[in-house]
Amino acid sequence: MPLINIESIHKTFGKLEVLKGVSLDIAAGEIVVIIGRSGSGKSTLLRCINGLEKVESGKVVVDGTEVSAAKADLRALRQKIGIVFQSFNLFPHLTIEKNVTLAPRVVKKVSPDEAKKAAITALERVQIANKSGAYPSQLSGGQQQRVAIARSLAMSPKIMLFDEITSALDPELVGEVLKVLENLASEGMTMVLVTHEMGFARKVANRVVFMHEGKVWEQGAPETLFKSPKTPELAGFINSVL
Ligand code: ADP
Ligand code: MG
Repeated sequence: MPLINIESIHKTFGKLEVLKGVSLDIAAGEIVVIIGRSGSGKSTLLRCINGLEKVESGKVVVDGTEVSAAKADLRALRQKIGIVFQSFNLFPHLTIEKNVTLAPRVVKKVSPDEAKKAAITALERVQIANKSGAYPSQLSGGQQQRVAIARSLAMSPKIMLFDEITSALDPELVGEVLKVLENLASEGMTMVLVTHEMGFARKVANRVVFMHEGKVWEQGAPETLFKSPKTPELAGFINSVL
């Protein structure tokens, strides 16, 4: 049984059909990179995985829980799935440590001591424990994004979803965030990433999925996919990003 099982999902916004029958299975420990043009449905697909969007038809099952069911326990589910976006949205009035302990304390109701331990471990994993007393505004964009990753990790998720998390960063700050992602990958975290960093995809992904017009158009091992695209759509996309 795959950890994430997506079967023929359809999602529309008004008259716009954004996902047109997407199926995808992701195994525990797999690193899947999703690529594709703007508007192809990448973010919507990620949001369907953790129940931020409801699908009209088809099925999403994560770790045995049917996310797409009307009565899905989304609260429990979201403790298993961390999601990090392009905008890090840290609380500006809270220290880094408080930003990271907040969810474990409020959602998981762990004790302050336990929350602090989890926060420090998470901050160490993203190599920023030395800034635990600082405020977000005192950190660079790359450091803030790493804290946002730590905030998710502090909840001990089984799966991490990343939606273009380096897209808003100054180019010189992208590397430190990709490095953190690489470390997480090597620790065996199951990860689904939307990114335009093709070098990262080649190096870290087990599988690359090319989305086009709301469908999984092509997928495969990074080397195969980038070297020998089967469709003109993927060939065109690769040319436009390289
Ligand atoms: P991508 O991440 O590949 O750029 P998205 O999944 O964000 O694509 O969006 C796919 C399409 O769905 C786009 O045309 C976008 O404008 C539209 N869309 C996304 N979210 C919404 C929403 N909440 N309401 C209406 N349209 C949306
Ligand atoms: Mg998007």
